[in-house]
Amino acid sequence: MLLAETIRTIPDYPKKGILFRDITTLLGDARAFRRAVDELVQPWAGTKIDKVAGIEARGFILGGAVAHQLSAGFIPIRKKGKLPHATVSIPYSLEYGLDHMEMHEDAVTKGERVILVDDLIATGGTAEGAVKLLRQMHAEVIAACFVIDLPDLGGAAKLEALKVPVRSLVTFRATRRPWRPPGSRTSRSARGSASRGHCRARTCRRARARRRSRCRCASMPRIGSR
Ligand code: AMP
Repeated sequence: MLLAETIRTIPDYPKKGILFRDITTLLGDARAFRRAVDELVQPWAGTKIDKVAGIEARGFILGGAVAHQLSAGFIPIRKKGKLPHATVSIPYSLEYGLDHMEMHEDAVTKGERVILVDDLIATGGTAEGAVKLLRQMHAEVIAACFVIDLPDLGGAAKLEALKVPVRSLVTFRATRRPWRPPGSRTSRSARGSASRGHCRARTCRRARARRRSRCRCASMPRIGSR
């Protein structure tokens, strides 16, 4: 099973020109959900992780499961005004907008080892904000983990420049595709990942190798690879 194939792509959501990578289809598939969580957890199994920080909202679902597997605490990083106790706050930019994120000021203590989890990294503005928030409270950010990386938007590179190792399970490149009639062998309307005119037949060995190289699963860890 390819994780990439369990993710639905919705064109022009929430704005025209955005290819929204919808992980609700992955979450609804028991095997895919389990596999995604296992692969996010795998590099940290047996290491000391004090807390997992999840970014609202899809980062809560994944981060909660990862924290449980690692026997770590969970830190919710939320949009402004949602947390009930005293907070620390930081502005951040999104692929499609600007916002503020917050965390409880007592959510983490100095020197705690934290991994950050979200569903997707695009421009990296959200994750960068979360890293700065955690560092503001003197946490040690061990890594940032995502199901999806959109490398053309430079987010992973931005985090690595902050000395935060990045791990992602699936990569989608943002190239424009020529229109093809629905049902044609090379039509990929539901997935929307890169087409460079390669053969995509399931029986083709090269096509399988290309698909494997796009799915950065546990056997191909990315940490420190850039
Ligand atoms: P960014 O700050 O640009 O890295 O955006 C990452 C955050 O925005 C994540 O919390 C994602 O859930 C969401 N996001 C940004 N772009 C997309 C996209 N194309 N599809 C789905 N979610 C996205």
